[in-house]
Amino acid sequence: MLVEEFDVVVIGGGHAGIEAALAAARMGAKTVMFVLNADNIGQMSCNPAIGGIAKGIVVREIDALGGEMGKAIDQTGIQFKMLNTRKGKAVWSPRAQADKKRYREYMKKVCENQENLYIKQDEVVDIIVEDGRVVAVRTKLGLEYKTKAVVVATGTFLNGLIYIGDKTFPAGRAWEPRSEGLSEFYKRYGFTMMRFKTGTPARLDKRTIDFSSLEVAPGDDPPPKFSFWTDPVGTYYFEKGKPQVNCWITYTTPKTHEIIRKNLHRTALYGGLIKGIGPRYCPSIEDKVVKFPDKERHQIFLEPEGLDTIEIYPNGLSTSLPEEIQWELYRSIPGLEKVELIRPAYAIEYDVVSPTELYPTLETKKIKGLFHAGNLNGTTGYEEAAGQGILAGINAALRAFGKEPIYLRRDESYIGVMIDDLTTKGVFEPYRLFTSRSEWRLYLRQDNAILRLAKLGRELGLLTEEQYKLVQDKEKQIREWIEFYKTQKVVVAVGQDSRPYTPSQLLTAEFTLSDLTSFGFDVPKDPYVAEEVEIELKYEPYIERERKLNERLKKLEDTLLPPDIDYDKVPGLTTEAREKLKKFRPLTVGQASRIDGITPATITALLAYLGKLD
Ligand code: FAD
Repeated sequence: MLVEEFDVVVIGGGHAGIEAALAAARMGAKTVMFVLNADNIGQMSCNPAIGGIAKGIVVREIDALGGEMGKAIDQTGIQFKMLNTRKGKAVWSPRAQADKKRYREYMKKVCENQENLYIKQDEVVDIIVEDGRVVAVRTKLGLEYKTKAVVVATGTFLNGLIYIGDKTFPAGRAWEPRSEGLSEFYKRYGFTMMRFKTGTPARLDKRTIDFSSLEVAPGDDPPPKFSFWTDPVGTYYFEKGKPQVNCWITYTTPKTHEIIRKNLHRTALYGGLIKGIGPRYCPSIEDKVVKFPDKERHQIFLEPEGLDTIEIYPNGLSTSLPEEIQWELYRSIPGLEKVELIRPAYAIEYDVVSPTELYPTLETKKIKGLFHAGNLNGTTGYEEAAGQGILAGINAALRAFGKEPIYLRRDESYIGVMIDDLTTKGVFEPYRLFTSRSEWRLYLRQDNAILRLAKLGRELGLLTEEQYKLVQDKEKQIREWIEFYKTQKVVVAVGQDSRPYTPSQLLTAEFTLSDLTSFGFDVPKDPYVAEEVEIELKYEPYIERERKLNERLKKLEDTLLPPDIDYDKVPGLTTEAREKLKKFRPLTVGQASRIDGITPATITALLAYLGKLD
């Protein structure tokens, strides 16, 4: 029965679905978001945190395109940190602990108050296609909604199966119902599908943890924020002194590892129940103990799930052991000797549709107007999901308006790197972003996300004219200061050598921006402009080198890899790269670069080994 008509239908109210629905609605498309439970819009299925290496950069990219994730975490975060600060600024990335309940409430409220966006709690069980394009969706109750474009963002819900030891039951997440009909739809249309798995730790009762002996992990001061538009507008830092909570650090013990080894056959994975492929970079504790037998201890972060709850998330302790063994395991860890579990750890197996079925616009090749985003594409992580969601939502709206979809290039955003990887290489295990996946990592930084993408955000109507003017004003100031610092000169003694230097030359040496005042130069008063001028000038020569290297790499694509090459002897390769190169034995460097998991960093290491780079 046909009941209503929408420009865009979004199936899912997770991190991908939210960004997709908001983007489409904000672009003026009459949009409906279907969810299995309207209370759980924006639910964090696993860790109560947003951001992290490369992921934090994606959140800022989403923000620059007018998305919501950055604003949501800025409003509901309880601890903020910049990661990787011991390394160069190119790989810094913000991360924040979230108040899980408040994050969800914030997202629900934003969706409820968004003009053009309607929310419906119902399961979509089928997508109706005519002449190769989507025309409607059908729900479990038999209602049909006519539409011009559909974004499927169903996360881990398609044929989800939960495992706790040898117990297994159908569910999409924790104890929520799973979704079945759509997997049938994909089979009917011949889409390539796979089975992936992921897991989550138990949630611990804070009152039963002894924190007295544990290392405290505080937030940063000033804390980094994710959105350029959160107060103070126009910077990526909060004011100093923002109240934050602590996390704690503990470690597994030899006893923990012994309990795991003794009970390995009782885990769903090693006991042979789970067939799906798990995330290499988010392994269960049993995986870590098996794969790194010589490692004496693994670090565990104890993270509060929110301000008004006693639930603690033990980051690093996901397992699919039976619940009674989980108690034993957790209690073998310092501080957790008397811990009580509120929710048990579990693993989940679910259907994934191969992302090679998609164009880089995230539209399927088989059906016009059908877009995929999030875990359905084989990625893990809220941020990866949201990054795909915003692009899928933008393109669904463009399709509905009869316009051509857009895509993001690898050299303009991490979202572009991820989507290019997914759609050209496909996935054989859950995909997560790393800075090493990008050949442009000195340019694709957290600090310049707004400068890279605000123009596109404005063109799409997702940033206001006022917002874009602010970015343009900052950009102008940055350009003027850089020009000024490149053209002024001052005589400085560096060692024995006393000669005129431009301030920009001083910055590429060991000096910082604030040092320039001692040479008689003014420095920008605007903190964002000051940070950007300093980073851009310091990085300019390296970015130029990066550009030249990328040009050379392109030319060296046809370089032959000797058939007898011993990948164990190539320095600088990750375990994953060695494994995959040995398995696929590519004939050329270009072929190697198209293997899932082979990053630009691997290609550089291979060419260096072959003596092609000097
Ligand atoms: P989700 O957030 O799962 O949202 C899916 C949405 O689709 C929900 O709103 C649901 O109601 C809706 N839906 C599904 N089917 C239908 C239907 N037919 N009709 C209507 N609505 C439907 N990521 C990590 O990075 N690290 C981890 O350690 C990690 N561990 C995880 C552990 C577990 C147990 C689970 C479940 C997930 C874990 N994840 C982890 C993945 C993380 O949850 C996802 O990356 C992220 O939530 C994906 O967002 P999404 O929008 O694709 O899907």
